[in-house]
Amino acid sequence: GKVLVSGANGFIAAWVVRSLLEEGFSVRGAVRSKGKCAHLQETFASYGEKFELVVVPDITQDGAFDEAVKGVDAIEHTASPFHLNEAQPDEFLTPAIKGTVGILESALKHGTSVKRIVVTSSTAAILQVEKDPKTFSELDWNEQAPRELAEHGSAVPTITKYRASKTLAERAAWDFVKKHRSEITWDLVVINPPFVFGPHIHQGATPDVLNTSARQFYTMLTEPSSPAVRHSGSCWVDVRDVGRAHALALLKETAGGERIIVSAGPYVWQDWLDAAPDAPKYQKGVPGAGKDAVHQLRYDASKSERVLGMTYYTMAETARDAAADWEARGW
Ligand code: NDP
Repeated sequence: GKVLVSGANGFIAAWVVRSLLEEGFSVRGAVRSKGKCAHLQETFASYGEKFELVVVPDITQDGAFDEAVKGVDAIEHTASPFHLNEAQPDEFLTPAIKGTVGILESALKHGTSVKRIVVTSSTAAILQVEKDPKTFSELDWNEQAPRELAEHGSAVPTITKYRASKTLAERAAWDFVKKHRSEITWDLVVINPPFVFGPHIHQGATPDVLNTSARQFYTMLTEPSSPAVRHSGSCWVDVRDVGRAHALALLKETAGGERIIVSAGPYVWQDWLDAAPDAPKYQKGVPGAGKDAVHQLRYDASKSERVLGMTYYTMAETARDAAADWEARGW
């Protein structure tokens, strides 16, 4: 079958595309402009006609995906803004929500052969900031970020705007499915990753072009940081596992109707410094000092193992492979 992948040039999406092609799917990647095509065409040239690109200039326009969904059997919707630059709430909310609902609407109207749609949400749509350490599961919803945004508007931190955008976009997707249950020919799967690290195959001559999570990963490993920062952390997953999860979400029948956390576990940054290659380029911090850290957030990823059959890259593997990628680029 053929799969439409939105935001195909992104850090995660490029690995989604590769996983799909490796599983034998044909892929139609959607990108915002023509300039984003050449690198992808080169990257996936060996797959010949199994890989094609379409330009969807503005995902917030009504009917933006009407043409792109025609003739595909499944959709993977990854396009959504993720950055920590100052921005008005709507700069996150509008593309996140309208982009998601818009692609579902286009599928409803014109995607007559679509059987499944996978939406890339985030653990940002699951976690809440709490006083005590907590393990979150797919049953949890981030009510906090949308509430704080409703109460305080653009005064909330950027991360809250992002988290609200992911929560509201995912909610809108499930609501759409509920509302149109009798008309749709497809079911919905939602993938919820925490911070995504690892080697990248999207375009990038210098580290500044990295997406938000991969750039933070690169900076933390290569630039000095304070003990407080080295003992802070979150949960993580390798980008190749996120790509594979998106392909498995199409292959596993029972994934239909599920939101699924894909997470390799918690970290503090010192753990990554310990895992980084032993070379002058990489920070050392205080080796081993992360071992006793209290992890404020954890995710129960057992559904991903049960339903998708996921296994996860280890920290040592991800650090090694990301570093090899940077060296190959001469960074
Ligand atoms: P990237 O920034 O690498 O990719 C984001 C993609 O979305 C790009 O194709 C980008 O297009 C597109 N996009 C962003 N804003 C808009 C917009 N306003 N209109 C149209 N397209 C837009 O990030 P990631 O690969 O990290 O993120 C991909 C998805 O994964 C997002 O949905 C993100 O929320 C989610 N995610 C990411 C995590 C992470 O740690 N990286 C963790 C959990 C979820 P363009 O290049 O043209 O800007």
